[in-house]
Amino acid sequence: MSGMELQRPRPTMPVEEHIARELEKLRAKQRYRTLPETGARRGPYITVGGLELLNLSSNDYLGLGSDPELLTSWMAQVDRGADGRFAMTSSSSRLLTGNFPVGAELESAIADAYGSEAALVFNSGYHANTGILPALSTRHDLILSDRLNHASIIDGLRIAEAEYLRYRHADYDHLEELLASAAGKYRQVFIVTESVFSMDGDLADLRRLVELKRRHGAMLIVDEAHGVGVYGQRGLGLCEALGVLEEIDILIGTFGKAFASTGAYAVMRRLFREYLVNTMRTLIFTTALPPMMLSWSLATFTRQLEMRREREHLLGLAARLRETLGDAGFETPGESHIVPVVLGEDRAAVAMAAALREAGYHALPVRPPTVPENSARLRFSLRADLVVEQIDALASTMQSLRS
Ligand code: PMP
Repeated sequence: MSGMELQRPRPTMPVEEHIARELEKLRAKQRYRTLPETGARRGPYITVGGLELLNLSSNDYLGLGSDPELLTSWMAQVDRGADGRFAMTSSSSRLLTGNFPVGAELESAIADAYGSEAALVFNSGYHANTGILPALSTRHDLILSDRLNHASIIDGLRIAEAEYLRYRHADYDHLEELLASAAGKYRQVFIVTESVFSMDGDLADLRRLVELKRRHGAMLIVDEAHGVGVYGQRGLGLCEALGVLEEIDILIGTFGKAFASTGAYAVMRRLFREYLVNTMRTLIFTTALPPMMLSWSLATFTRQLEMRREREHLLGLAARLRETLGDAGFETPGESHIVPVVLGEDRAAVAMAAALREAGYHALPVRPPTVPENSARLRFSLRADLVVEQIDALASTMQSLRS
């Protein structure tokens, strides 16, 4: 008899009944989710449930995803293009027959922009984060991860053989304590953080992290999913803006947000790229992105390099909204283009989102478990194609809904 049979008490509830009960619990807690249907987009507007609303819940931070000119000029190339560049499927893993020249072109455009030795493209940020740490670390290593890091990083920690600990969010004294007590006990310590935290809209102190990684001989991995396109003169992220690009061992960017496409990339030393190609399961055992998507990513990545004015405008809008809402007594943590408004109970956030919808805004509530208990919030994801008048109108609508 195997050990499993000896020890495990067998649950008696059939799986369907268990699932039905769990769903009932979610409904009772107002946490039941459905997939909302998304309609047409027109600039910063989106049609949802038959209503055209100002879209404050997308990650299209530069508005490139609903820029008809960019799409039209790219489609003209598609019409003329050869199959190798615009095929709709790669039909295989990159290690078999799915590695098209446009992928290499995209990777060298990224590496050149960052001035890094190498870049590697993945199917998504989720693939990147669940693949990189498990590939690079061993059971002799330790990974220290910010407590508010994205679910995909958490899943990477779970898959990796290394030990891991989560330091209190942006609490670098806590991180330093953990680094000090790890001294001499591990082959390598990795620190992993987001640059712009997606639920609180706050920024990692990357300079402090660089200082810590140097002093403790750690490696620093930074997920810039919400930083690229928005920060830095060329939109390379907060690491560019703070002048620390050279200090980051692995920098991850995603194409699904400001870059208006799909997929992700990491910039790193050549040695790491070589190793990931040989060992990273989420790169090896999956069908590669189609050349069509890679080609679009190349177009949007190249275009955004020049969008400095739009970035400044976007960050200006965010500062204005935070200030006005703050003056009106709202709690608006963070400092980026993601402006959360913490309302506390789930019910308050759901009610405010519904009222905003009536007023013409699409701003979805974010509830636990995505955020901690009693910190349900609205989360305004601003975008560069908004204008000051829209921001001011939103702030005054919020004020009137509150009073
Ligand atoms: N990292 C962070 C910080 C994210 O917010 C997200 C997406 N929400 C991802 C990674 C995953 O990226 P993708 O959507 O490309 O899978």
